[in-house]
Amino acid sequence: MKTVSILGATGSVGTSTLDIVERHPDRYRVVALTAASNVEALAAAARRTNASLAVISDENRYAELQQALAGSDCRAAAGPSGLAEAAAGEAEWVMAAIVGCAGLEPVMAAVEAGRTVALANKEALVTAGSLMMTAADRSGSAILPVDSEHNAIFQCLGSRRCDDVRRLVLTASGGPFRTWETTAMSTATPAQAVAHPNWSMGAKISVDSATMMNKGLELIEAHHLFGLPGECIDIVVHPQSIVHSMVEFTDGSVLAQMGSADMRIPIAHTLAWPERVASGADRLDLTRCPPLEFEAPDIERFPALRLARQALDQGGAAPIVLNATNEIAVAAFLAGRITFGAIAELVADALAASRDEAPGSIAEVIALDRAARGRAEQHLVERAA
Ligand code: NDP
Repeated sequence: MKTVSILGATGSVGTSTLDIVERHPDRYRVVALTAASNVEALAAAARRTNASLAVISDENRYAELQQALAGSDCRAAAGPSGLAEAAAGEAEWVMAAIVGCAGLEPVMAAVEAGRTVALANKEALVTAGSLMMTAADRSGSAILPVDSEHNAIFQCLGSRRCDDVRRLVLTASGGPFRTWETTAMSTATPAQAVAHPNWSMGAKISVDSATMMNKGLELIEAHHLFGLPGECIDIVVHPQSIVHSMVEFTDGSVLAQMGSADMRIPIAHTLAWPERVASGADRLDLTRCPPLEFEAPDIERFPALRLARQALDQGGAAPIVLNATNEIAVAAFLAGRITFGAIAELVADALAASRDEAPGSIAEVIALDRAARGRAEQHLVERAA
C-alpha cells in the first residue's frame, strides 16, 4: 500500500486525486487531507477514506472541523503547523494542490522531508523554483509534474538525457478568449473568463488560462523542472487540448503525449509512477477527434505571455513579483474590482518596478511575496480613487 496525503483535497485537482485513489483501495491508503475553509467537504472526504489527519488552514474553523469529525478515527488539526504535518508526515506520496503561493511552505516541507511530491501548485515553483529543486536534490525528493503540459514533457523525456533536447513545446488551449478582439476582452466578465472551453478547473487557474498567464507561469515552471533556458521553451496554441506538450530532440525527432482533457490522466501518472493505473478518464479515439490545429500565440492580445518571459529573463525577484501581483489582480477581477484588461496592466507596472535580488531562502521568498502583494493592493486602491 502506498500512503498518500492530499494538500488542497477539496479543490479541482484534489477531488480528481481522491477519485483515482478511491478507485484503487487495494493500492493506496490516505493519511492526511487538507483544505482552506471547506470543512464539510474535507470532513466528508476524511470519513470516506478513513484518513488519519484532516487539516483546515483557517484556524477559525478548527472547532467546526473537530465537531464534523466527532466519532471518527480522524484527528483534526489547523493552521500552518497542521499543513506542515500533513505534508511531511507519514505519507510517501504528497499531492501539492493548494492554489497560489499559499502552498509554498507545505510543498517545501514535503520536499525537505524527501517525499515524492506530485506538484500541481505551479506558483510554488514559479516563486521558489531554484530553492525547491536544490532542496529536492539534497533530500532525494522526487518532484513529479502534475500540470498536464509538464507531465507530458516528463513522459516524453522518460530516461532520456536533457542534453539531447533541442526545445520543449508547451501547448496552450488559448482559453475562452482565443478568438476575441482586445476591446471585447478588456471588459469580459468573471463568468466569461472562467468558462474554459476544454478543462474544468478552479477559478484562479481558469482566469489565468483566459489571460494566458497560466502558460506564462508554466514557462517558468518548465524552466525549473527541466533545467532548460527560456529560449528553448516554446508555446504553441492548440485549441483541441489533445496534444498536451512535445519535446524536440537534437536529431529532429519530436515526441508528443496525447490524451483526453482530463486531469485524472496526469494525476494517475504521478500517483502510480513508475507504474500505471486506471484513471477513469475517457479513452482517446483519434478517429472521432476534430482536426488538430496549432498556431502561434498572439502576444499583443495576450501580454501576460510576454510578461512571464520578461520575468524569467529579468531574474531576481521578478517571478515572485509577477506571481504575487497576478494573484492579487485575479482575485480583484473575480471580486468585480477591476476589469479583465487591468490584470496584465497591474502585472506590467509591478514588473517594471521590480529591482530586488533573487531570494536566498524560503523566508525571503515569503517576505518578497508579501511586499509585492502589499504594493499591488496599494496600486488597486490608487486606481479606484
Ligand atoms: P481550487 O481552487 O479548485 O482548489 C484549491 C485547493 O486549495 C482547495 O482545497 C482549497 O481549499 C485549498 N486552498 C486554497 N487556498 C488555500 C490557502 N490559503 N491555504 C491552504 N489551502 C488553500 O484549485 P485547483 O485545484 O484548480 O488548482 C490547484 C493548483 O493546481 C493550482 O496551483 C493550479 O494552478 C494547479 N493546477 C490546476 C489544474 C486544474 O485542472 N484545476 C491543472 C494544472 C495545475 P478550500 O476548498 O477549503 O477553499
